[in-house]
Amino acid sequence: MSCLRLILADQLNAGHSWFRHVDDGVVYVMMEVRSETDYVRHHAQKVLGLFAAMRRFGEALTKVGHRVEYLRLGDPRNRHSLAANLPWLIEQFDARRLERMEADEWRVEQVLDEAFTASGLANAVVSTEHFLLERADAVARFATKVPRMEYFYRDLRRRHHILLEADGSPCGGQWNYDALNREKWLGDPVAPPWPWRKHDLRALWTEIEAAGITTLGEPSAASFGWPLSRLEAQAWLEDFVTHRLKHFGRFQDALSKHSSTLFHAGLSFALNTKMLHPREVIDAAIRAFESGGVDLAATEGFVRQILGWREYVRGIYWARMPGYAELNALDATRPLPSWYWTANTRMACLHAAIRQSLDYGHAHHIQRLMVTGNFALLGGCDPDEVDRWYLGIYIDAFEWVELPNTRGMSQFADGGIVGSKPYAASASYIHRQSDHCQGCHYNHARRHGERACPLNSLYWHFHQRHRDVLGRNPRLAMSYRSWDRMKAAERAATLAQAERYLAHIEEL
Ligand code: FAD
Repeated sequence: MSCLRLILADQLNAGHSWFRHVDDGVVYVMMEVRSETDYVRHHAQKVLGLFAAMRRFGEALTKVGHRVEYLRLGDPRNRHSLAANLPWLIEQFDARRLERMEADEWRVEQVLDEAFTASGLANAVVSTEHFLLERADAVARFATKVPRMEYFYRDLRRRHHILLEADGSPCGGQWNYDALNREKWLGDPVAPPWPWRKHDLRALWTEIEAAGITTLGEPSAASFGWPLSRLEAQAWLEDFVTHRLKHFGRFQDALSKHSSTLFHAGLSFALNTKMLHPREVIDAAIRAFESGGVDLAATEGFVRQILGWREYVRGIYWARMPGYAELNALDATRPLPSWYWTANTRMACLHAAIRQSLDYGHAHHIQRLMVTGNFALLGGCDPDEVDRWYLGIYIDAFEWVELPNTRGMSQFADGGIVGSKPYAASASYIHRQSDHCQGCHYNHARRHGERACPLNSLYWHFHQRHRDVLGRNPRLAMSYRSWDRMKAAERAATLAQAERYLAHIEEL
């Protein structure tokens, strides 16, 4: 008689209370299944990284004495879905009880809920012990009214005593140092490279190919860079805190063709698979601040991403699913151009962001929001397609975090739940924040005419075609005033240029 405990690919939390004691009556079950590799077309490195990290986690549990049943991709017993494998596993281990952690994705939660109920066995669902706000708490907070991120974040800082003075006021007198975090990066200070590992995952890649799994992007299996264990993730965190955190805030919004990673952490894969706990990441940053190596603005800017944004989007997701995945407030229907899968576009900023996504399964936040996301928004691309692209291409993409960021923050398809206005930008934003416009095929300063940057005419076309919805938004009043002040001929030429570009979107 035994209890089966299910561990999913994004539940590699070695610190979970499940693992505190070895119990011979408990069998930990881990599975590499096609239902998870095939629900969207994933980046090759995402499939490799998840399976390789799962295998290491299973081995580590076995080493300390836990019983682990690990189903590999090619195991003939594997029925390739979480639900289809459970009945025979129950029989094999004479299981009388099933346990699992809360799944972070709504889709998986439904599947497991049904499978557990269908088994007829006693069962329990426990917390992942990963987030700083339990899921039920998050749902309760977001159920009726979505608070603005800033107030949600301040509340969590108070609740967890993070960056506070003894009297409960914010450290340094301010809650937010965002205004200091908008510098362009011109190469100084030098952006240290990320501490890429060199894992040889060729054997695993052969298994993935043999199974016929369709992926996108470069596998880089001979020299796989992402951390695959808790120890490696901790070393990556240490490297970030020592070398990049001090400049994280200042250059958080920068874009550059000379560095694809700038001063970003690169910790999202380790965090989202739960190899790292958000609290330990926050504590590491605060220790660096307290020892004098990092200033308050950089530390606060970083803490806000983890304690603020990461927990915030999860709350929105769980409070608003499943309806959230259907929202399309701007009625966008255009297919995403095929160059999102090849990087074959002459727009330098888009080429760089997409090329890097295909090569590494990663792009930083401003590339996702203000480059690839901005183009899809201005072009009126279907949010279902946009979601599928983001969910597939990034190594850190799990729906609970991908969906509110993509459909909400980036595409405004939620009509303003995540952000109070669309993140729409013309070429002047890209020019101000980056060095991509120098040498680009297109001219960032032109709205229409030969080689005019498509972002300019599309920006105005976007505002014009959504005037009935967006024209009432006070935060966009200035944009509409600028448009209305333009000469009629200028407006007409700009809109005509946008129409031409939209008709030939594949050739941009
Ligand atoms: P850094 O810039 O160094 O930030 C540090 C950490 O803060 C990140 O590791 C992440 O855990 C957290 N963080 C920062 N911004 C956000 C945010 N907006 N939402 C949630 N957490 C945040 N992040 C994902 O983890 N998975 C996704 O699938 C994902 N999809 C996105 C899609 C779009 C359209 C946009 C605009 C953003 C998306 N993000 C996503 C958020 C963010 O871009 C990534 O977390 C970040 O780029 C990861 O790289 P990093 O670890 O170097 O982050």
